[in-house]
Amino acid sequence: MGENTRRIRREKKTISVMIEMYCRNRHDGPGGTLCDGCSELHDDAMQRIDECPLCLAKPTCANCPIHCYRPEVRGHVRTVMRYSGPRMWGRHPVPALLHELDGLRKVTLPAGPTRPSGRPRS
Ligand SMILES: [Zn+2]
Repeated sequence: MGENTRRIRREKKTISVMIEMYCRNRHDGPGGTLCDGCSELHDDAMQRIDECPLCLAKPTCANCPIHCYRPEVRGHVRTVMRYSGPRMWGRHPVPALLHELDGLRKVTLPAGPTRPSGRPRS
C-alpha cells in the first residue's frame, strides 16, 4: 500500500516537472506557474493518475496499456513527454531514472477472452 502510494506520488511529481519544463521552454511561461492550457493538462493528468484502474499495478503512464487519457489530452501529454523526457536526465536525473525503472515493470491485465488456439477443428 505504502509502496503504491509512493509510486503514484512519484509519477505525479514526474509529470508535473515535465509539464512545467515544457511550458517554461515552449510557452515562455514565467516559471513556477503554468499557462492556462498546460495547467489544464496538468490537472487532467493528476486526475487520470488518481482514477487509473491500473495505478496499483501499472508502469508509468507513458506505456500504460489502457491509455486512460482522452485522445486529445493524450496527444498533448505525449508531446510533453517527448520534449521533457530526454531533458529530465540533465536536470532531474533521479526522478527520470525512477520513472524509467517504473516503466520496466510488467503489467498484468485482468484476463480477457483468450485467443483460440490455431488448431483447426475438423
Ligand atoms: Zn504552457
